[in-house]
Amino acid sequence: MSCLIRLIASTAVVYSILATSALADTAAGEHNGSTAAPAGHAGVPFPGAPEIAPIGVRLDKYIDVPEAAKGPPIDPAKGYRLEKLGRGLYMVTDNGYQSMFMVYESGVVVVDAPPSYAARLKQAIAEVTTLPITHIIYSHSHTDHIGGAGLLGGHPVIVAQEETKRLLLRDADPARPIPTVVFKTSYRMQLGSQHLELSYHGDGHEPGNIFIYAPEQKTLMVVDLVFPGWMPFRRFAVAHDLPGWMAQVEMIAKLPFDKLVAGHVARLGTRADVLTQIEFDNDVKSAAAAALKTTPFVDGINPADAGNPWALTDDYTARVAGSCVKAVTPKWSNRLGAFDTFVWDECYAMEQSLRVD
Ligand SMILES: [Zn+2]
Repeated sequence: MSCLIRLIASTAVVYSILATSALADTAAGEHNGSTAAPAGHAGVPFPGAPEIAPIGVRLDKYIDVPEAAKGPPIDPAKGYRLEKLGRGLYMVTDNGYQSMFMVYESGVVVVDAPPSYAARLKQAIAEVTTLPITHIIYSHSHTDHIGGAGLLGGHPVIVAQEETKRLLLRDADPARPIPTVVFKTSYRMQLGSQHLELSYHGDGHEPGNIFIYAPEQKTLMVVDLVFPGWMPFRRFAVAHDLPGWMAQVEMIAKLPFDKLVAGHVARLGTRADVLTQIEFDNDVKSAAAAALKTTPFVDGINPADAGNPWALTDDYTARVAGSCVKAVTPKWSNRLGAFDTFVWDECYAMEQSLRVD
């Protein structure tokens, strides 16, 4: 709680700085002969605003990251960590991003190539085999997960869902070579004695984002849907379709995996992590739904803004999001890593989705 009070204090400092600069604007305006009141400057938070600082306010210290969110350290000399997931299957991570590779009798299948460590991916593979990369699988089109694919060289077969190919043709990015094999709903890859099952369950994070399952190794890779130990990245990982995204997180919980490669954070995910995230997602949904029902549309706004519907909506959604933030803070502020970084974003994204989806 003392941490939260510090956040309020630092928020108040920021607001007083902004107010001071608004006064400076006024003085400059008067110097130019204008007596118009300055507009667009920061005021004070609305009455009853949450203790968690809103978006855009720099804090002196964020809430400490809980131990459960942390993972094994990275060797700084290598810049990545290799973790064996089962026969021939490995996770590679720099503790920010995660990818996989699978070794079979005559080659290697790489799943994603995040640019943050793609230049060292071949070195990671060389730790366990000298076989060549014959296939690359794209989890989805986003460059932060596959933008290092062009660095892997050779002429691998590139497998993706057909929507991913459509998006990559549009983006025309040489760092992300165009898939050579696409599928619509499911694709089974049998390579020597190894086996992967790819499946597509519709839009959620973005069109084309797939589930990649290694049945023998009981390992599931799905990217940008679950954040083991952590808050989802802002706006539920910038979900393209939030109801679809939430449904896919629930789908993951029903699959028969032991290890989850979620594409981000410092450690593997477990079924417990998925269930925790479902609980958080549903708490935000309930809190935002309740706030939409109980928050008056106009409350305390400057009467001079009465003819500005965007301003009224902006103030309303801030109060709805604020009510949502307040409702979820007691239960979650110390349970998920970086709660205070993105809880406002999650509440804004949820109230928006509940109003229009
Ligand atoms: Zn993504």
